[in-house]
Amino acid sequence: MDCDILVKNGRVVTAKGVDTADVAVKDGRVIALLAPSAQGSVRADQVLDAKGKFVLPGAIDVHAHLNDPGFTWREDFAHGTTAAAAGGVTTVVDMPLQNEPALTDADIFARKHEAVREKALVDYAFWGGLTGDNLDKMRELHDAGVTAFKVFLGPVSPDYRTLNLGVVREGLEIAASFGGLVGFHAEDYAIIHHEEERAARAGRTERIDFLRSRPVVAEKIATADVIELSRATGARVHICHVSHPEVAELIRQARNEGLSVSGETCTHYLVFDEDDVLERGMIFKCAPPLRDAVAREALWDYVVDGTLVCVASDHSPCAPREKDESEGALKAWGGISGIQSLMAVFFDQAVHRRGLCPSLVAARLSEGPARIFGLRGRKGSIRVGADADLVILDPDREWRITEDSLRYLNKISAFVGLEGRGMPETTLVRGRVVWSDGEAQAPLGYGELVKRHSPEEKIEH
Ligand SMILES: [Zn+2]
Repeated sequence: MDCDILVKNGRVVTAKGVDTADVAVKDGRVIALLAPSAQGSVRADQVLDAKGKFVLPGAIDVHAHLNDPGFTWREDFAHGTTAAAAGGVTTVVDMPLQNEPALTDADIFARKHEAVREKALVDYAFWGGLTGDNLDKMRELHDAGVTAFKVFLGPVSPDYRTLNLGVVREGLEIAASFGGLVGFHAEDYAIIHHEEERAARAGRTERIDFLRSRPVVAEKIATADVIELSRATGARVHICHVSHPEVAELIRQARNEGLSVSGETCTHYLVFDEDDVLERGMIFKCAPPLRDAVAREALWDYVVDGTLVCVASDHSPCAPREKDESEGALKAWGGISGIQSLMAVFFDQAVHRRGLCPSLVAARLSEGPARIFGLRGRKGSIRVGADADLVILDPDREWRITEDSLRYLNKISAFVGLEGRGMPETTLVRGRVVWSDGEAQAPLGYGELVKRHSPEEKIEH
């Protein structure tokens, strides 16, 4: 057998388990998984020795804000996708907001593609926007290849719009007509707005006031509303960045009833808690906010059982001045940068600190995201015929996240200072090494747009 690259002697990780195998790659795809004894019969142009290491499917980060085009003082595609490659993320699914303009029709889809295509190091897909005034554009966005539509139920930045349930219901009816997926920032606007006003009237602007303005009940109510509207319309819905086990429990019950509801959480909810906000400040501010340590631990149960089938970064960068607390904790920017640390942190926390199988990493970072977001077949798993999006990870290599190690435009993150073990070292996208030895190995522009397919696929239980 002839191939372009042979990744040999590694422990190949899939959602089903871990097996020692050699991965043969040709023309960007996996062409064979071979028992190590078959080596002699393979001729490869390039051999990567993964002895003692794991070979994982590249992560698909289904929740990232690269801010390009539009808000490129916060992040841009060049920095964001380079950080992705450094961290073992081979496909970034970019959000439609924090873009100028927000991605709300097929024409803007095409323009965004043009604006970023020369800047991407890894592959990428787009979320579409659902802003209330583009209901008649949903079908064309779907046909253009968006993976899902993003809805905000809670307060949002001025470039986007919060929807009421009437508009959401109509949007879900439209999405259901073509099998589209609608993803939600699920926090109840009225509760949060009221609490923010109450705090402002009383002149309360402390960190604790921010946390109190976004109670768990606001997240639960919004999630329950989405679930009921999914039941009523038959639409597939996805709850983004679940922060609390009581929210995850609602999703679990809905799934047990057979509804097409999926859930996602983010590494910061699995590692940090509200004490970090209270003690260390605005760098830990995000929405929904970090919850208490008991909730953080209980959230893991739902990651393990698959209720939360995707673990994403919600990479949400900003300029350092936007984290300034001088006007109070309610005014500072909410968002945590985490695309580069997604795999390393999740691997360390799951495998080393909780003794879970590395297959959970493949399941929640790659296979689950590919399945829910219509990328399966091409992306998200190591199998014959799929894109050779691979990560060689040294499970014993220790790391400490520093500002200098970050490839973001703005080198700030809640994860700075965190230590762990298990480091993505080499990243391949479609059979080409894009990152190794701490440096990019392919030119910007190598990354390609990936479009959703298999829209008819139902969420599996
Ligand atoms: Zn987000």
